[in-house]
Amino acid sequence: MSNDPFQNALQQLNQVANLLKLDDQTVKRLSSIDKSIQVNFPVKMDDGRVEIFTGYRMQHNNARGPYKGGLRFSNQVSKSEVKALSMWMTWKCAVADIPFGGAKGGVVVDTKKLSESELKRLSKSFIRSIHQLIGPQQDVPAPDMYTTPQIMAWMADEYSKIVGSPTPAVITGKPVRSGGSLGRNKATGQGGVFVLQELSKVTSLEPATTQVIIQGLGNVGSFFADFAIKAGYQVVGVSDSRTALYNPEGIDLKRVLNYKKQNGTLSGCGSAQEMSNADLLEMETDVLVPAAIESVITEGNADRIKAKYIIEMANGPVTPEADKILRRRGIVSVPDVLSNSGGVTVSYFEWLQNLNNEKWSEQKVISELKKKITKAFIDGWQAREKFQTDFRTAVYALAVQRVVAALPKVK
Ligand code: NAD
Repeated sequence: MSNDPFQNALQQLNQVANLLKLDDQTVKRLSSIDKSIQVNFPVKMDDGRVEIFTGYRMQHNNARGPYKGGLRFSNQVSKSEVKALSMWMTWKCAVADIPFGGAKGGVVVDTKKLSESELKRLSKSFIRSIHQLIGPQQDVPAPDMYTTPQIMAWMADEYSKIVGSPTPAVITGKPVRSGGSLGRNKATGQGGVFVLQELSKVTSLEPATTQVIIQGLGNVGSFFADFAIKAGYQVVGVSDSRTALYNPEGIDLKRVLNYKKQNGTLSGCGSAQEMSNADLLEMETDVLVPAAIESVITEGNADRIKAKYIIEMANGPVTPEADKILRRRGIVSVPDVLSNSGGVTVSYFEWLQNLNNEKWSEQKVISELKKKITKAFIDGWQAREKFQTDFRTAVYALAVQRVVAALPKVK
């Protein structure tokens, strides 16, 4: 694999295309980004200067429905990265079986260097420069790295002003007061635990005797930990970016989260052994849940991973080289496009609620999420048999097959 994310995404697609015996024309269509936009837009800074920022929106494929995907604000944003992410969104929406295609976007900016009013003006100016591309039936952005529900609310507001009527369905991940969905903040972690429960059924893991280690105690990791404990699993390890805690008798999550809130660190929390993040990944456990950042399981540590199963809650936590080693060792990974699809699934529910002017209860959101993600897991698990391949490849093959089935005929 190369360091170019889009080349990696293409390589992944080609592998699946060989398995599905897709013809060259179809592979060509799936390999190209439908629309690739770069905009350079002005923002008035607090001191009166006007600065020009660069933003992107890549729309990969809309065969299954309007384009859907996050907007990230980061200095690391590159065209290749956003292109790759837009293709992965196409596969993720197809796996989750929600009626969206794939897109991604971003602005090259270090948000830490902006005041709140600069951030607001930047968000609105970016929307003004891409407004013709987006819309509830065209392309529906969402939050991603360093973009927040508040930023989504500013963007939806600006779009509504441009089109002349309130249009909350143009963007998801908004605060509840601005048309966001109840349950969205918990959705990815909760969805991951529904996946863990389905995995348990097909592998005979008994929750009470199943140990789980979770890397990352942010939004996704902390809700995953909480719901896993409520579902009867033993969470024996957790970590933040600096410190990991391990206790084979079980972690006292409430205490750990309170300690972290008060002290800003897990260090000194007590009642568990402290270790490095890298060491935690290699501890004895049944299930390992990377829920922090990409590329934490690599060819450097894959040989030492002791978990039997990995549930990928972060995006891309296992490198392709590590994946080969894990597969050889019989360790099964539930791929990110499936395990963390709870977030985009509830984004779909938000879009539906906005379009129909409805407000679902949190209970309804969670029960609909459970139905969707459970079905996605079962379909993916069965695809292993159908395609006679590993879980990750089977899930991608299923996604690509669904997109191919929806491709319009070329006249
Ligand atoms: P977050 O910022 O709330 O939390 C990230 C956590 O990772 C924090 O606890 C942080 O301390 C920890 N962390 C950072 N660097 C680390 C390192 N080097 N080693 C170990 N831990 C480290 O982010 P989040 O929203 O919880 O997202 C986590 C992952 O899940 C990301 O990869 C994100 O792309 C993915 N994801 C999130 C959602 C969502 O709905 N939030 C949906 C799909 C995928």
